[in-house]
Amino acid sequence: MTVETRLDFRSDTRTAPDRAMRTAMAAADVGDDAYGDDPTVNRLEAEGARLLGMEASLFLPSGTMSNLVAVLAAAPADGTTLIAGRRTHIALFEAPAIQRFSGTPLTQVPQDADGALDPDAVQQAMTAGAQHIVCLENTSMLSDGNALSPSVQADLATLVGPYATHLHLDGARLANAAVALGRPLSDMTASADSVAFCLAKGLGGPVGSLLAGTEEFIGRARELRMGLGGTMHQSGVLAAAGLVALRRIPQLAADHAIAALLATELGRVDGADVPSPSRRTNIVTVRLPGMTEQLLQRRLAGRGVLVLPLFDGYVRFVVHRGHEASSVPEAAAALRDVVDSGQGEA
Ligand SMILES: *Cc1c(COP(=O)(O)O)cnc(C)c1O
Repeated sequence: MTVETRLDFRSDTRTAPDRAMRTAMAAADVGDDAYGDDPTVNRLEAEGARLLGMEASLFLPSGTMSNLVAVLAAAPADGTTLIAGRRTHIALFEAPAIQRFSGTPLTQVPQDADGALDPDAVQQAMTAGAQHIVCLENTSMLSDGNALSPSVQADLATLVGPYATHLHLDGARLANAAVALGRPLSDMTASADSVAFCLAKGLGGPVGSLLAGTEEFIGRARELRMGLGGTMHQSGVLAAAGLVALRRIPQLAADHAIAALLATELGRVDGADVPSPSRRTNIVTVRLPGMTEQLLQRRLAGRGVLVLPLFDGYVRFVVHRGHEASSVPEAAAALRDVVDSGQGEA
C-alpha cells in the first residue's frame, strides 16, 4: 500500500521557489560572473554583505561549499586545526571532505544544551603558536534549532582572543536566529571573522549560500571557489531568487509561530517527550517511550507525515514556508495515532 504524503517536515531545504521568486528569476539581468559582470550577482553579494554586517560576500552553490571555502581561505598554514561542536553539521556531514580537500583536521568539542561550545574543551584544543579555525553553528541544528544570542559568540571571541584564530560562523539558519531574538543579522555576526548563510533553507531560494567576511578574505574565497569549480556563469538567474529570499527574512517569524504551536500540540500526545530549547526557532523534536527514531519515522511516514530520524529515539520536524498552522493538528493527530496503535509495526 502506498501512503500519500500529506506533510513533509524533513527539512527547510524542501521549500520550493514560489511564483514571485520565479518571476524575479525570469526577469533577472545577467552577465558572466566568471568575469565579475553579472549585475544581479553583484547586487546579491553587496546586499548580503550589508545585511550580514561584513565588508564583502560571495555567492556559492551551497552551504557545504561555503564552509569548505571558509576553511580553505582561513587556513594559511599546515598545522591549522578546525574546532567545532560535536553536534554540528560540520562535524556530522562535512569534516571528512574538509580534511581531504584542505588537510585541516577537525577537533570536536562538546556543546551545552543550547549549542554553545564548551569553553574548557575549546581552550584545551588551542595551542599557542598554532593557527586555529573555531566554528560556531547558529542556530544550533541539533539543539532543537536553538538561537544563540550574540553574547555567546562574543564570549567565544574573548576566549580565543589570545590565540591565532579565525572565528567562523556556520549561519546556515542565522536568519532564524536573528528573527527569534529580534536582532538585526549584523548583530549576530559582530564578533565573527566570517559567516556562511543559506539562501535555500527557510528563506525559500532554490540554490545557494553566501560567505561573508573582509574584502581580503572574500578575495581569497573567490579564487578558491573557482579552483573548486564553484564559479557560475549566468548565475544572476539564481541570485535574483537570493535577493527575494533576503527580503523575506522577517517572514520566518510565521514559521517560528507554527513551530511553537507544533511543540505544544505534540507535547500533549500521551507519553511524547518534546524538549524545549531556550529559544526555539523552526525545529521541533519528539520521541515516544520505547520506540527507536527509525520506527517512529516509519510509523509517521505510514500516516503521511515525513520527518527525519536523529538519535536517542528523537525525530525532527522542521517547519518552513510550505507549512500552515493547519498542518499542526494533522501532525499531532498522526503522532497520537502512532501512540494509540501501540508498539507493533503497524
Ligand atoms: C544545511 C546546512 C549546511 C549545508 O548547507 P547545504 O546548502 O545543504 O550544503 C551547513 N550547515 C548547517 C548548520 C546546515 O543546516
